Amino acid sequence: MTDLELLLIVQEHDLALDRLRHRHANLPARADLAAAEAALVALAPGLAEVRARRDEVARDAKRLDDEVAAVRERAADADRTLYSGSVTAVKELQALQTDVEHLRARQRELEDRELELMEALEDLEAEVAAAEAASALEADRAASAARALAAAEAEVEGEIETETAARTASTVGIPPSLLDTYERIRAMSNGVGVARLVGDTCQGCRLSIPATEIDAIRRGVAGEARCDNCGAILVP
Ligand SMILES: [Zn+2]
Repeated sequence: MTDLELLLIVQEHDLALDRLRHRHANLPARADLAAAEAALVALAPGLAEVRARRDEVARDAKRLDDEVAAVRERAADADRTLYSGSVTAVKELQALQTDVEHLRARQRELEDRELELMEALEDLEAEVAAAEAASALEADRAASAARALAAAEAEVEGEIETETAARTASTVGIPPSLLDTYERIRAMSNGVGVARLVGDTCQGCRLSIPATEIDAIRRGVAGEARCDNCGAILVP
């Protein structure tokens, strides 16, 4: 086999490696992972917002609850004093009675408000739970996509390793300067560095080479003839 024919085999390995790297970069699981991660990012502000509202209402409810307890205690104190027998003046007793009534009314008012807040809190807890469930679903999707991606990557990487070893083995015996030229051309022209000349057609770009040049190519030094159009080293 001539050096140029060996070079064609090297190129087959290089093209196979190109396809494997393209496959590696475009694994479906990679898109799934990106989609799940984007969904998580998109859900985060809504989740944070509903949690913040829930926390605020919970704080208000707690404050109100403390206030109710304090008012209840003051009412109970006034009530005890009222019936303790320690106060005997009618005016004072009436004032105490009025106090107790006011405090009880205040307590009921606060308790009504507290009840409203507890209902609002319940609704918000349900909203938080729904938002958390939606985020958890995306997190699960991201995790399983990450696992699928790792497995698919490992598989393609194994194939790349095998192909790379085969490529290295296929270069044995090819003059390094020819390999260098091939690699330089391949890097510049869409992955094709060497192409067979079939009839008057370059198999790299499928264009015809003028008949006058064909003759020179066939008689010239192997490896020096290049396609005018795609630049590939031509293999007569
Ligand atoms: Zn060409």
